[in-house]
Amino acid sequence: MPIDATLPYDDQNIFARILRGEIPSTRVYEDDHAVAFHDIAPAAPVHILVIPRGRYVSWDDFSAHASEAEIAGFIRAIGRVARDHQLVAPGYRILANVGAHGGQEVPHLHVHLFGGRPLGPMLA
Ligand code: 5GP
Repeated sequence: MPIDATLPYDDQNIFARILRGEIPSTRVYEDDHAVAFHDIAPAAPVHILVIPRGRYVSWDDFSAHASEAEIAGFIRAIGRVARDHQLVAPGYRILANVGAHGGQEVPHLHVHLFGGRPLGPMLA
């Protein structure tokens, strides 16, 4: 069910629980600002979710309220994960859904990183 991205942060959302280690995930990367783990329902051979450690509902919340260090750290983490998975030469896609029309279902900012096959044109 898509979320309302203007709602306050919910500490019980599934990614908050994954960050706290209350729910298992297959982590592939973590640092001071970001954690990356495999999507539970992969839509491509590589489908990794990269999330900030901070409590941000969506890309909108993050871009408006995160510190410069958090923003830089998060963006660098996404690039690092792509490089670690040898995705740069073949290419890959990053995507962040925001709110109801964006189809966002988990109310903690996450960037999808897809790769491992030709992904075709972006669909609106
Ligand atoms: P959204 O639609 O919010 O952009 O994407 C949410 C993503 O989170 C989906 O691709 C979904 O498969 C993934 N997801 C939902 N619950 C879990 C979970 O418990 N663990 C993991 N690893 N991924 C999840």
